Order: sequence, then C-alpha cells, then structure tokens
Amino acid sequence: MTTDLAIAQENEQHEIKPITEIAQQVGLSADDIEVYGKYKAKLSYAAMNRLQQQKQGKLVLVTSINPTPAGEGKSTVTIGLGDALNMIGKKATIALREPSLGPVMGIKGGATGGGYAQAVPMEDINLHFTGDMHALTTANDTLAALIDNHLQQGNELNIDPRRIQWKRALDINDRALRNVVIGLGGHANGIPREDGFDITVASELMAILCLADSLADMKERIGRIVIGYTYDRKPVTVADLGVAGAITMLLKDAIKPNLVQSLAHTPTFIHGGPFANIAHGANSILATRAALGTGKIAVTEAGFGADLGGEKFMDITAPAIGHLPDAVVIVATIRALKYNGGVKLADLKTPDVAALKLGYVNLQKHIQNMQRYGRPVTVAINVFTQDSQDEIQTLQDLCAADGVKAYPTTVWADGGAGAKALAEHVAQIVNAPTDFKPLYTNSDTVEEKLATIARTIYGAKDVAYTGEAKRDLRQIKRNGWTGLPICVAKTQYSLSDNAKVLGAPSGFTLHVRNLVPKTGAGFIVAMTGDILTMPGLPKHPAAMDMDVDENGKITGLF
Ligand code: ADP
Repeated sequence: MTTDLAIAQENEQHEIKPITEIAQQVGLSADDIEVYGKYKAKLSYAAMNRLQQQKQGKLVLVTSINPTPAGEGKSTVTIGLGDALNMIGKKATIALREPSLGPVMGIKGGATGGGYAQAVPMEDINLHFTGDMHALTTANDTLAALIDNHLQQGNELNIDPRRIQWKRALDINDRALRNVVIGLGGHANGIPREDGFDITVASELMAILCLADSLADMKERIGRIVIGYTYDRKPVTVADLGVAGAITMLLKDAIKPNLVQSLAHTPTFIHGGPFANIAHGANSILATRAALGTGKIAVTEAGFGADLGGEKFMDITAPAIGHLPDAVVIVATIRALKYNGGVKLADLKTPDVAALKLGYVNLQKHIQNMQRYGRPVTVAINVFTQDSQDEIQTLQDLCAADGVKAYPTTVWADGGAGAKALAEHVAQIVNAPTDFKPLYTNSDTVEEKLATIARTIYGAKDVAYTGEAKRDLRQIKRNGWTGLPICVAKTQYSLSDNAKVLGAPSGFTLHVRNLVPKTGAGFIVAMTGDILTMPGLPKHPAAMDMDVDENGKITGLF
C-alpha cells in the first residue's frame, strides 16, 4: 500500500518549491521570512505584525464528528479544501496545528494530512520542525526549575509546596511521569514534593503561544500565570517570581508562525499545537491572522470533534482572532459513523447502511451544535476506498433531510481535484449573511457556563462536581476569575465524558473532577471524566514501525 510518507517523499523530490517562492506567491518578500533550510520559514516580526492589520479574507473552520482512534481526516480535508479553493481560482491559504510527537510515536503517526492532501516537508514538520515544541518544553521546565529553586533558596514568597499547580512537561506520551516525587536526596537536592508531567501541548505556555497576538502580549500573559498558592492560599504568579522576561525570551522565535506548503503549493501556516481534548485545540491566532492576511479564503482546523475543537474555537479562539468563521465544514467518514452506530473497529470495512443510519445521530448533533452559532454549515464526506456508493448516497440523503449539503470528497486519493464541488459551495457560503450567537457570555458564573456547554453541546442533563471541584470553584470566586471562558477537558470519542458512550447520548451527567485556572491563557480548564493531561502509549506504538536508513531516509511515519 502506498503510504502518506511515500507519497510525500515522491512528490517532495519532484514538486516541492523553495519556500521563498511560496512566500512570493502571497506577497511576502525575502525580508518578510526567516528561512529554516530550503522549504520552511518563519515570518519575521515585521511581517507577523503587518499581516495582523492587513485586510482580512474569509475564514473557514474545518471540524468533525466524534472520531475513531485513527482520526477522521480533518487535516487531510483542510489541506485538500485549501488546494481545491486555489484550483477554482480563489486565493486560499491554510492554517494548521503543529504535530506533537506524542501521537506521532503513539497511535496516529504523522499529522500533516494524508495521501495527496499533505503539507510538506512532512518528515520535518512531524519531527522537530522549527523547534517550537522544544522551545515550549524548555520554557515550561525552566519555569518549573525556577519555582523549585525559589523553595530551595528560602521561599520568600511563602509558596506552599503542596499547592504548586505548575507541572513539568515533555512532548512525549509517558504515563510513568504522570505522578512523580522530586527533590529527594537530602538538603542539597531540593525540597521534596509531589509533582507530575503534562504533555507539552497541554502546557499553559502552548495555550499562550496560540492566543497571544504579540511578544508584548505574550510576556504579559506569562506574567499572569498562576504557578501555585501561598500557605495562606494567595495565588503566586510568574510575575511574582520575577521571571516573565526570561520565559518569554525562550519563546521569542517560537512565537513566529511557520510557513510551509501543501503538495499543491498552497501556502500553509503551521503553528502551535494544543490538543482539543485537554487544551483549546486550535493553531495560533497569529498563524490564522497571517493566513487571513495573505489569502482571500483561509482554511483552518480545530481538533477532534465539534463538541471539543469546534466549541472552543467559537467560544475561545475566534474571539481572540477577532474573526468568527464565515463557514463551518464538518468532516464525517462513513466508517466513524458506523462505529458510532455500534460496529466494531475491526468490521468497519464491511458495507452496513443500517449501522450508518444509526450512527448518523452523531453527525446530526454536531451539525445542530455548529448551526446554533449562526454560521453556514456544510458536510465533507471524507471518502475511503471501501465506502460503498450506497452508503455515500445514504449519508447525503440523511444530511439533505436535515437541510445540509454533504459533499463526497476524495482529496486523500485525488488531492484538491477531489474537493472541487465542496470548494465551489464553500466559496459561495462564506459570503452568506451571518448572525453570530455566542453560546454563553463570560459574565455568567462558572457553573452556568459549564451547564450551558454540557446541556447544549454535549446533550447532558446536568453537571456533577467532586469535592475538589467545589473547592476549586470557591477558590476561583475568591480570586475573581469567574469571568474567564471555560475550556473543557473531555474524551474525544464521545459527546459525553465516557469514551464508550457513542452516537448522540442524552440525559447523562457530566462529571467535573477539578478546575484549573489558566489565567495567562485566559480560561479555566474543567477536567471531566477520566481524561488525563499526559497520555500513555498504546500496546503497539507507531514507533515500532518506524526506521531511518544510512542516508537519513525515513520509513513508517505513516
Ligand atoms: P484528523 O485530522 O482528523 O486527525 P488526519 O487528516 O490526520 O485526521 O488523517 C488521519 C489518517 O487517516 C492519516 O494517516 C491519513 O492519511 C488517513 N486518511 C485520511 N483520509 C483518508 C482517506 N480518505 N483514505 C485513506 N486514508 C485516509
């Protein structure tokens, strides 16, 4: 079977253009970019700042149904749609998240699209790219080291070591580091305390990188981060520690959006990579604004299903960009809908119209959820070779009955040519008059906001709080943080907080374990169900199938 990597390598050899040419295509001069080798670049500060002011294009948000563990092709469709829009003469650009090595080595392999709808150079983007993830990890752990050093050097700020909220981070799935004890070995080796690691993409610094609109804004946000509490329960910030400048300095290059290209040479900004289940799930607002500033239509993607990435894009990211999506594309696959209709993973290749009909309720709920924001919504059916014509037609009919157009797209097999009809439709609906209705207002209480998300978007009947979550609520009130939006951490596999409950459940309770104020990012994370901020590796990690030969040629990166 031809793999994504083989297609990318084959095309990279013959087709890839120098990044200076891609930049020129959208009016960026040699001075506007800082090249990282021949095919990657970062925007200069001047270009980054200029593009934010530039006359903006239309924004298309790509989101999806609840996925199977393999992903449903959101990135693939995002890239394919960008290519298709260019093919029909709309000047399109793409904005995507940077892959994390956690899923790359774990369950999923690469995250730069697939087949003939890919961003290249795919190996670089999937591995170390321009070093943003490493810079974030280093900045995160520098802050952790500075906190522990503060304890060691006399703890002038009176920080309670048991109430330190700032964790260490690595861009690796490493379950053994979820809970650790540090500072063992006597006086010279630190103050012993319990600590833990998050995956880098869940670090508040990642959220800040994605939501800050300048280096100055980033520094201010970093200064506001609450790292923990004093013995008398007062919040302690990075500014109190006096290191906001140093931490920002470590991110001074990471903040600049990266520019690469799709296989069809569509300018593609790939920058920042928070997961949508444990973080807010969208690329940096700087990258989206750069895409809006250089293209007539910018296509971007929000992680996992529309219940997570989609909702957070509408309620957290879009207000920060200052531009709501002009249209929403929901990616659905026949196989994931059959999975939602009760078919086992191993049997998804067998045609089953009855199961598809049962599982359709999942897509239907996501369509309703996105429509309630008052933006035009359309469906992209990401076609797999095993999908039967009968199944595709059934899905189109089901969507039509709900008043929504659904376009079979074959971008994985055919590149942009496989999404021309979708592109024509999207190019039209981005101009439709819109009437944005926010889901909640920030002045609602935290409980009200959570109840609104749980009832309206997930279909829950109520929200239950553990004792710890109730204590967190009191602390949030005491410190005046109730006006922040909510970023729910929840399984991506279900609309509920239980990964096993598929379809479109209703009447369930959403269980909130605890609430973490992320005052630098500007939201409160509500941890629900048994979701974790440091994933583990599966029984057969993708890493076991990867290799590199003596010439540096990689295999097995999907
Ligand atoms: P998501 O963004 O939803 O996580 P991706 O776009 O990263 O999903 O795709 C996940 C994987 O599925 C990739 O390896 C990609 O090549 C593969 N894939 C996506 N669409 C198709 C398709 N239509 N046919 C075959 N494989 C596909």
